[in-house]
Amino acid sequence: MAINQHFASIDVQTLRQGVTGRVLTPGDPDYEQRRRGWNLAVNQYPALILIAADAEDVVAGVNFAREYGLGVAVQSTGHGIHYAGDDSLLIVTTEIASVEVDAEARTARVGAGVIWQQVLDVTTPLGLAPLLGSSPHVGVVGYSLGGGIGWLARRYGLAADSVRRVELVTADGVLRHASSTEHSDLFWGVRGGGGNFGVVTALEFNLYPVATIYGGNLIYPAERIADALHFYRDWVQSVPDELTSSISIVRVPPLPEVPEPLRGKTVFALRAVQVGDAAQGADLIRQWLDWQTPMVNTFAEMPFANIATVSNDPVEPRPLHYSSELLDDLSDDAIDIITRFATDSASPLTINEIRHAGGAIARVAPDANAIGHRDAQFYLILVGAVPSQESRANLEAYIRRFKEALSPYLPGGVYLNFIRADEAAQRAQDAYLPESYARLLELKAKYDPANMFRFTYRLVAPPN
Ligand SMILES: Cc1cc2nc3c(=O)[nH]c(=O)nc-3n(C[C@H](O)[C@H](O)[C@H](O)COP(=O)(O)OP(=O)(O)OC[C@H]3O[C@@H](n4cnc5c(N)ncnc54)[C@H](O)[C@@H]3O)c2cc1C
Repeated sequence: MAINQHFASIDVQTLRQGVTGRVLTPGDPDYEQRRRGWNLAVNQYPALILIAADAEDVVAGVNFAREYGLGVAVQSTGHGIHYAGDDSLLIVTTEIASVEVDAEARTARVGAGVIWQQVLDVTTPLGLAPLLGSSPHVGVVGYSLGGGIGWLARRYGLAADSVRRVELVTADGVLRHASSTEHSDLFWGVRGGGGNFGVVTALEFNLYPVATIYGGNLIYPAERIADALHFYRDWVQSVPDELTSSISIVRVPPLPEVPEPLRGKTVFALRAVQVGDAAQGADLIRQWLDWQTPMVNTFAEMPFANIATVSNDPVEPRPLHYSSELLDDLSDDAIDIITRFATDSASPLTINEIRHAGGAIARVAPDANAIGHRDAQFYLILVGAVPSQESRANLEAYIRRFKEALSPYLPGGVYLNFIRADEAAQRAQDAYLPESYARLLELKAKYDPANMFRFTYRLVAPPN
C-alpha cells in the first residue's frame, strides 16, 4: 500500500503484520490526532506512525525503518518535540505503560510511554518519591534522558543521575540493556545524550523516601522584582541542599477564573520545596515574609503526591516556544537586564523563571554521564505562547534581544531539556563538556552511524 508519492515503494502491510500495535498512514482516521504532540507549536507529518504495544514492536519498527531508509522519531507526550518528524517513522510509546516498583530496593522500572503522574500514583502511597520535574504530565524517558531538574534536585540530583538501567533498541534493531555493568558506554551516553542512540523501551531508576514536603509559592507584585532578585541571590547562598527554589516572573492571564488580585497582572512567585525538616523550611521562608508581605502565600506542609501544585504547570496541550541559558551568578547588571525585559509591558514572554541549581547536581563527577555544566548556579528559562506565526516571530526576536543584552553575563552553557528545536540543532554542543561531546560523537558513530535517530538533539549541527 502506498503512503504518499515519495514513499510509494514502502510496504506498510509488512510492518502491520509484524507488530501487535497499530500502524497509521496519512489518511487514516487517527493519523491527525496521533501525529501531534503536547506542544502544538511543532507540526509534524511522519510517513508512518507506529503505536508500539511493546519492545518487540519497537524492534520491528526500527528494522523496518532501516530497510526503507526512514529516520525514526520517538514520542511519548510530545512535551519536548525537537524537530518535526516529517517523513519519519514516528514510534509512539504511550501504550508501553507498565510501572513496577520494588519498595524495598526503592527502585521503579517503567515502560517507555509512562508519564510521571503514573509513577506518582504507585509510589506516593508507599512513601516513595521519584525525581519528577515541575509537571507530572511530562514523560519519564524524555525528561530523564535530557537531565531532569525537579523540586528535589538539590537534595537528590538530576533524574538522569538516578537512572540505574536502560533498555533500548539500537539502530541495528537489537534490544540492549545498558547499565554500569552492561553496555556501560551506552549507559554513559543516553544519560544526557537524549534519544541519539536508540529507542528506549524501559527505564529503571531510584526512588527516595519522601512522603511529605514543605512547599508553595509567595506571590508579589512585579514592581519589587529587582529588589527580590538581589534578596534571592543572597538568600540562596544560605539555604541547605534540602531546599530547591526558583523565582518565576509570570504574566497572569486576564481570565475570570483567576482570583481578582492577580488577574491580568505581572507578578513574581518565589517557589520552593523543602525536603525533610518542615520547620527549617518555614524558617527559611519566614525571611521572605520579613522582607515583604506577599499578596498570596500558599506555603504549607503537604503530601508529596501534591507536588504539582507548586508549579501548577498547564496540563492541556498548547503552542509554546521557549529558550534557556545557564547562569553562574546573578550580577547587579544581569538583575537589571532580567528585570527590564521580564517586566516590559510589551514583552511577549509569559514566564521567566530562574531556578536555583547546585547541591547534589554539582556533587556528581563531571564525567559520570554525558550531562555537562554541573557547576551552573542557576537555570534561566524563558517561555511564551505562540498561537500564530506572527506571535512566534515576535517572541523569537524578543528572546534574541533579551539574550544579546544578557550575553556578557552568560557563560555559554545550555540545559537541553529547556531549549527548543532550532536551538538544539545549533547549540547541542554547548550542553556538554568538550571531552564528553567528543565521546558522544564516538558513540553516535558506533551505534547510529546513519543517524537514524535524528529527531532529537542534533549532536552535529546541520549546515546553515
Ligand atoms: C510544561 C513543561 C514542564 C517541564 N518541566 C520540566 C522540568 O521541571 N524539568 C526539566 O528538566 N524539564 C522540564 N520540561 C522539559 C521536558 O523534560 C522535555 O521537554 C522532555 O523532552 C519531555 O519529554 P517527553 O517524553 O514528555 O516528551 P516527548 O516530546 O514525547 O519526547 C521528547 C524527546 O525525548 C526523546 N524521547 C522520548 N521518549 C523516548 C524514548 N522512548 N526513546 C528515546 N528517546 C525518547 C526524543 O528525543 C523525543 O523527541 C518541561 C516541559 C514542559 C512542556
